[in-house]
Amino acid sequence: MTDQAAIDFEAVHGARPSGVWAAPGRVNLIGEHTDYNDGFVLPIALPHTVKVTARRREDARVRLYSAQGDGTITELALDGLAPGVVTSWAAYPAGVFWALAEAGHAVGGADLFFDSDVPTGAGLSSSAALECATAAALNDLYGLGLSAPELALLAQRAENAFVGVPCGVMDQMASACCTDGTALFLDTRTLEQRHVPLDLEAAGFRLLVIDTRVKHDLGDGAYAALRAGCEQAAELLGLDALRDLPPADLTAALERLPDDLARLVRHVVTENRRVAETIEHLDGGRIAELGPILTAGHASLRDDFRVSCPETDLAVEAAVAAGALGARMTGGGFGGSVIALVATADVEAVLDAVRSAFGSAGFAAPVAFTAVPSAGARRLA
Ligand code: ADP
Ligand code: MG
Repeated sequence: MTDQAAIDFEAVHGARPSGVWAAPGRVNLIGEHTDYNDGFVLPIALPHTVKVTARRREDARVRLYSAQGDGTITELALDGLAPGVVTSWAAYPAGVFWALAEAGHAVGGADLFFDSDVPTGAGLSSSAALECATAAALNDLYGLGLSAPELALLAQRAENAFVGVPCGVMDQMASACCTDGTALFLDTRTLEQRHVPLDLEAAGFRLLVIDTRVKHDLGDGAYAALRAGCEQAAELLGLDALRDLPPADLTAALERLPDDLARLVRHVVTENRRVAETIEHLDGGRIAELGPILTAGHASLRDDFRVSCPETDLAVEAAVAAGALGARMTGGGFGGSVIALVATADVEAVLDAVRSAFGSAGFAAPVAFTAVPSAGARRLA
């Protein structure tokens, strides 16, 4: 652990920490709004992480501090944790303590100090990173012996039931389970995983992440309404989940549904197909073929699922017009980030084009970086 991390921890918690853990944010290559339809996703972990410095406490109290918070410590009694009790940012880590205890794991008190470079509310899953960093630290501090997928499921339960956000399982699985240099192909029904090698640079490409800096709010009901619409459509079609509708039956199924549900179904079914196509191309080493799939995915999110917004639409349009092979919004939508697959030689031209289009439209300047597939949650020291 760096001396500085220990000094920062001690200044807040008054004792030496016993370790440092990190969990990354993520971008999803393809497979958006499929995870709550039992479908397929293909995220990569980012180099950006939430780091947590931590130590056990023997008095069953939880003390939480974030360098990105309001400068105060949130102190809670472990046995007083219940959904609704914590309403600040601290609900994410507190929810992990709660979910572990609820599941019967012998977790005790702890002091935690978070410091993060994952942009928040940018569709890059800072919330899952916060949860998975907490889960990784508690797993080690209390010798719980839980696997990465088990930690991800508990983190998702924390966000669903304690924080009150009805997210699917992709974000936490990506943050907990990804490995360096690979994308995570996940079947969200069986939780079967495959780490798919993704060396973009060696193939002459970059995956740009363009944060539009428009903040979405998944808690505002829009996400829950989409999720409910998908479940209603599956029920009308007599399916367990939309994942069970074969692409060949799509046209017939759409005729049986009202237009607002048909749009949702068309997105989910075609999006699962796009994940499968992406995997085939990656396995065949045909990275350039991903471009049109990404752009088609964006059109589906914009026109059918209707979760894009003027900023993400413009970023995609400007990037593709300037030579990106393909681009799409990533994450839940209503703002957030866009990814663009770009030949290395065209990176600057694409970024200039997006910045200039945003300037002309009167939008705030976007923030861009290159996504390098990175490791999931881990102990650093
Ligand atoms: P996303 O997961 O896409 O970044 P969310 O709205 O799901 O967006 O989660 C963002 C929220 O997570 C923030 O509003 C904050 O409450 C919490 N959060 C994330 N990172 C931190 C951090 N480093 N410190 C404190 N809170 C954080
Ligand atoms: Mg989130």
